[in-house]
Amino acid sequence: MSDCIFCKIAAGEIPSNKVYEDDKIIAIHDLNPMAPVHVLFIPKEHYCCANAINEENCDIVGHIFSKIPKVAKELGLENGYRIVNNCGEDGGQTVMHIHFHLLGGKKLKVDMA
Ligand code: 5GP
Ligand code: ZN
Repeated sequence: MSDCIFCKIAAGEIPSNKVYEDDKIIAIHDLNPMAPVHVLFIPKEHYCCANAINEENCDIVGHIFSKIPKVAKELGLENGYRIVNNCGEDGGQTVMHIHFHLLGGKKLKVDMA
């Protein structure tokens, strides 16, 4: 997707503060952190949102979740953390390239809606 900001970040066309990268995903510090630690896990392949995940491509979600504990530990989140995915307008998604927020570094408020 040529006009997608996360595709550009994943391709290295726009600079980002990387905490993890492999052939399938990138993890970067959020530009506007909502917690002391706020990292975004982004697949390099473009999927708009959770609605684009199906039986054929769902391995990418497992791959992301398999890397979260390692990154969380490296960032000092031994006490726990939150993983968030916003889907679509009502879900509060603002960048239409699927990503998972990793939030932590303080006791987060529980506010599910
Ligand atoms: P969403 O609201 O779609 O779930 O989350 C999008 C997130 O991407 C927001 O937390 C926002 O701060 C972050 N973001 C938007 N543009 C950029 C960018 O260019 N670089 C980085 N590192 N984060 C961004
Ligand atoms: Zn994209």
